[in-house]
Amino acid sequence: MPNELEIIARLRARAHATDGVRVGIGDDAAVLQTGGGRDLLACSDLMTEGVHFRREWSPPRLLGRKALAVTLSDIAAMGGVARYAMMSVALPRALSAAFIEALFDGMLAYAETNGVAIIGGDTSSSMDSLFIDTIALGECDAGRAVRRNGARAGDVIYVTGALGGAASGLLLLEHGYRFADNLNDATNDEDARSRARTQVMLKHLMPGPHLAFGRAIGEHGLATAMIDLSDGLSTDLAHVVDESHCGAIVRAEALPIAGAVRLLAGELKTEPLRLALHGGEEYELLFTVRPEHHARIAELSSELNVPITAIGEIITGSGLQLERNGAPDVLKPSGYEHHI
Ligand SMILES: [Mg+2]
Repeated sequence: MPNELEIIARLRARAHATDGVRVGIGDDAAVLQTGGGRDLLACSDLMTEGVHFRREWSPPRLLGRKALAVTLSDIAAMGGVARYAMMSVALPRALSAAFIEALFDGMLAYAETNGVAIIGGDTSSSMDSLFIDTIALGECDAGRAVRRNGARAGDVIYVTGALGGAASGLLLLEHGYRFADNLNDATNDEDARSRARTQVMLKHLMPGPHLAFGRAIGEHGLATAMIDLSDGLSTDLAHVVDESHCGAIVRAEALPIAGAVRLLAGELKTEPLRLALHGGEEYELLFTVRPEHHARIAELSSELNVPITAIGEIITGSGLQLERNGAPDVLKPSGYEHHI
């Protein structure tokens, strides 16, 4: 069976773009000409029960919120502003009316907070799994969408926020921790760890994409390339260097690993660096910037209160390298990939 990338490549090779398509398949969102001064951005995201989530792991309100948040994250990754969304659901017959109501509550509240209008969708029944498909429409100044293919040798690679949390949260959920349970088990000596567990589970269940920051980067024209971290830093950065026909070097010591991830490393039985490099669903932004724009990007970061970290640079050649203790080694993209 072909893997996810092969399937996308096949569709991409066969899908014919019409005149209005500036960017078709293969970026965070499609970019479409409208004939005016703005381009239309369009993307969709499918969440499948048993693959992307388990019903028993997440309050339905957070599930609805996440379905929309991860889709709007792709609009932010193009440097655009999200305006409209549609949500289609396939609902197992056993699902209660209260569950569905809460799912919509979470989605609608997130839409309202972010100035996004829900304008449609579709519903179907399903045998036994819940499917949530979200489409988002956004816009940016014509020709100004930040694509994956603009990185050039010498650019500095930045990420927002801290890494490894979402993957740690997923591991805890797989180990049997539950978000609601965890709130009640905060005894004194366990307080810090308990808080850390809640923090990383929330990073997985309630991602907070940097919508305003992504939009501002686009409006100021500060990034040469941008992508949101959905599959894992190594895999997502590989998309940028492949599309940009260049290579990248990442400095292990520079990676902003979340404090909670370091605190929980022992019980998670995994190296924090691995989680930061390969853990999926962070919904942080990764972007590349010409060195001369450092001061402006630092200013934007403090203005919008979004921490950023320089983690390496774009180089000529191809592929990824990880520099650890001064020695470079090959970094294999090892983030999440759907095997179909
Ligand atoms: Mg994306």
